[in-house]
Amino acid sequence: MNFQNTLEYAIKLDEQDPLKDFQGKFFAPKHNGKDAIYFCGNSLGLQPVTARQYINDQMSNWQDLAIDGFFAGDDPWLGYHKQLTGTLAGIVGAKSEEITIMNSLTVNLHLLLVSFYKPTKKRFKILMEGGAFPSDQYALASQVRFHGYDPKQAIIEQFPRTGEHTLRTEDILKTIADNTDELALVLFGGINYYTGQCFDMPAITRATHDIGAIAGFDLAHAAGNVVLKLHDWDVDFACWCSYKYMNSGPGGISGAFVNEKHFSDNSLNRFAGWWGHREDRRFLMPPVFEADGGAAGWQVSTSPIMLLTLHKAALDIFEQAGNIEPLRKKSELLTAYLEFIINEVNKANGDELFKIITPQNKQDRGCQLSIICKQNAKATFNYLTDNGVIGDWREPNVIRISPVPLYNSFRQVFEFGQILSEGVKL
Ligand SMILES: *Cc1c(COP(=O)(O)O)cnc(C)c1O
Repeated sequence: MNFQNTLEYAIKLDEQDPLKDFQGKFFAPKHNGKDAIYFCGNSLGLQPVTARQYINDQMSNWQDLAIDGFFAGDDPWLGYHKQLTGTLAGIVGAKSEEITIMNSLTVNLHLLLVSFYKPTKKRFKILMEGGAFPSDQYALASQVRFHGYDPKQAIIEQFPRTGEHTLRTEDILKTIADNTDELALVLFGGINYYTGQCFDMPAITRATHDIGAIAGFDLAHAAGNVVLKLHDWDVDFACWCSYKYMNSGPGGISGAFVNEKHFSDNSLNRFAGWWGHREDRRFLMPPVFEADGGAAGWQVSTSPIMLLTLHKAALDIFEQAGNIEPLRKKSELLTAYLEFIINEVNKANGDELFKIITPQNKQDRGCQLSIICKQNAKATFNYLTDNGVIGDWREPNVIRISPVPLYNSFRQVFEFGQILSEGVKL
């Protein structure tokens, strides 16, 4: 692409954008009475304009139907989550029955580890990316300890080579092969939260299966951001949250994927609850647990309908946009434009003030760019904030900027570049 650093050009790209009307489906926070430039969808997606109505509808159902709401009305609460699994299946590339919606992300990670981390004396190790999101580090270490092993021995972290910021797939595959007899599980993020690197999930899964281990992914930063094919890649299990790229509200309800090949494996442990019991017999209150078919059998507790309805408000917009593929198409262009704009600021200053550590290749990243500020990092970030750009800050000097195809525009990326240029002159 021959991008240009002009307002006219950015406006032209917006005019050509088939998703341009979607920005109006979300509320952006205000800055001095105008919409802020919100590039923080990697932390919390924006509120769909329709979300309040979805909540109000369920408040009315509760008011008017009370307990009958589980079975009556247009949207009975029993099985409500099944209205969402189709869209989610498209977003993560799975069969509907391989998806379930429940709890929050770290809780689901624990529940899935109960089933899929089955250490033995010889095979007890877990490979994960170095510098994974802390919650994942805590969860894995505590699972390892729960089974009586020492995290220092059991957890292998894959770090970048000296002088590099991101991982090379060949290095990940080598570590897997080097630990052929000892790895029980490979648990990677789909996209690393800090660097924005998207890992080669099919290659990692294949290599993991080659040594007879289980492959799981935390897709917090990947779901709703990049195209995933969990079923075709033969991933064993995965989980994600819905409040980042899926715009389903702070602490929103999360999702989990279990590959159908595990459905009939009765040797899998699970921490059961009545909401995972066969739906057709659940209310007969039988004393012995019988798992519902598919991933739904991993449910534990009564579905939180208010959270599900917020999730539905957001997923209905994905559906209107044609699900993930058209979004990703725009996203690749939008992030490439952001990369161009940052390099323009570098060029104008005759120096590499901003070093993008996120990979350049579009296969190896989602929408986020992680940028090291070599000078006055915190002051630059504060300048952005004071001028209506909402990004996010990671110690010691990294700014993460995530243009989201559903609600960000090329014009906003251009304006970001203008504000950044002013910021570096201070
Ligand atoms: C955002 C994020 C989490 C957060 O977990 P919650 O249980 O939803 O608080 C966990 N892991 C990763 C990789 C994340 O990016």
